[in-house]
Amino acid sequence: MAAHSNPSGQPLVDGPRDPEHDPTASWALEPSFVDSLTRRVVSTTGETRPTMSPLNGQPLAHIPQSGPDDVAEAFRRARRAQHAWLRTSLEERSAALLRLHDLILDHQDQLLDLIVLESGKARKHAFDEPLHVALTARYYGRTAEKVLRTERRPGVVPGLTRVDVHHPPKGVVAVISPWNYPLTMALSDGLAAIAAGNAVVAKPDAQTMLTALYAARLLEEAGLPADLWQVVAGPGSQLGPQMIERADYVCFTGSTATGKKIAAGCAEQLIGCSLELGGKNPIVVLRDADVERAAEGAVRACFSNAGQLCVSTERMFVADQVFDRFLERFVARTEALSLGASTDWGVDMGSLISQEQLDTVERHVEDARAKGATVLTGGRARPDLGPYVYEPTILLGVTPDMLCFSEETFGPVVAVHRFHDEAEAVARSNDGDYGLNASVWSRDTARARRVAEHIKCGTVNINEAFAATFASLAAPMGGMRQSGLGRRQGPEGLLRFTETQSIATQRLVRFAPMLGMSDEAYAKVMTAQLRLMKRLGRA
Ligand code: NAD
Repeated sequence: MAAHSNPSGQPLVDGPRDPEHDPTASWALEPSFVDSLTRRVVSTTGETRPTMSPLNGQPLAHIPQSGPDDVAEAFRRARRAQHAWLRTSLEERSAALLRLHDLILDHQDQLLDLIVLESGKARKHAFDEPLHVALTARYYGRTAEKVLRTERRPGVVPGLTRVDVHHPPKGVVAVISPWNYPLTMALSDGLAAIAAGNAVVAKPDAQTMLTALYAARLLEEAGLPADLWQVVAGPGSQLGPQMIERADYVCFTGSTATGKKIAAGCAEQLIGCSLELGGKNPIVVLRDADVERAAEGAVRACFSNAGQLCVSTERMFVADQVFDRFLERFVARTEALSLGASTDWGVDMGSLISQEQLDTVERHVEDARAKGATVLTGGRARPDLGPYVYEPTILLGVTPDMLCFSEETFGPVVAVHRFHDEAEAVARSNDGDYGLNASVWSRDTARARRVAEHIKCGTVNINEAFAATFASLAAPMGGMRQSGLGRRQGPEGLLRFTETQSIATQRLVRFAPMLGMSDEAYAKVMTAQLRLMKRLGRA
């Protein structure tokens, strides 16, 4: 058993770690450790909700639930803390983020245990999460000051109108996140909000509360004021509207269906929101692609986190010229993946998170099979490995009448299609309502970039699955069309959490006739001025 320990020195995961050696494996969390986390939920209802681990279906924790009064209290506390936070310098905020960077890396074993226990994903896919959060903390820790700095812009009368543009924070940001990346989704967006001077009230998904609460603890250790990051727990359909009513901005990650409800609620309150939603992401393998490299990348694109990844691939378009060679390599590499439900390293693809996810995956595959698709590999659940383990599945002959043609499966299922020319590949990639992420493979990167520019997705990766854009923190990330509104990452991901305030100071001249000048004479002078300014090349 690997020796992980929580900050009190106790093992975080207690019990056999490898179900292959002990099929009755149980991963018990020390009750006092669980208690130290769940106490952070703002809750006075006395109600709790049990969670269980997808690794073995056994109980994991009882999460206290928040009622309407608790949501109100969380916002009250956050608002108070935000007023004090606003007075801290940008250097202090950045220093806290850089301390968090180190804490995340120092505590990665505990975080990985919690992520795997709550989500069932393979440990190697869980590692993407502390990695992404550390990158985010470092990026905003190092750049927020420059992006948020008050900026001088040209005034209307050169030399006499001074314009300063400020970026004050929105106030209290509601962060509502899904279960698929329990650490990244609960934390990364909120870090940008904090860096911009806001407080956060977070509502992580019910299944992955412990990871989110552990993250809240690390934020406090990094030096954030205790009340700046509030956590509430409960059904999104109940807490969501209560949060929207009190928030100054909503940052939502989840399904398109829920995103539309959030947008409607925010419209009612006339507050802004960013929506990171679903996708049906394509890969395009061009005729000159390095087939071996593309097949390796395609496996990561389709089966990372068992396909429960917003940017993972569910549609593949492969050029005629390389179709057979690519498919043979892709199937072979997929069949070589080791599956399992374990907190240990060494599993290539882990479990789905729940019966609900398993049901969707089975429904989509059975529907495709019944309507004539061929299952090249996979296509069945593996209860012998874990209650929700499903084999990585490659389908051929998927047609528009099948559910998995255009609906997001959010599981380890991909449909492979053949194309004859690039224009056709682009058109088919752009088919459907989503526009989150795409991936293009070619030895000619300039050509691949030209193809990429025609794909209507917020991010496109060339010769990589999704990590090149997702881990390039300086680049904005988000969806076009039904995949969302707004962008995370980059300056855009920070500025969404701010207002823009312009303060103009006028000297000497005024914007009205002076020295007894008539309105008509004033209009003539101003008209001549406008003409002169244009001739001088002024903006
Ligand atoms: P979901 O929309 O069901 O739930 C997401 C969160 O919203 C949860 O915390 C949930 O409790 C809450 N919620 C549910 N109903 C709500 C309501 N009426 N008001 C407010 N909050 C509510 O999504 P899910 O099934 O948990 O997550 C999977 C989906 O998320 C997939 O579609 C996936 O593509 C998407 N996703 C997108 C990104 C991205 O960056 N674009 C990242 C991860 C996941």
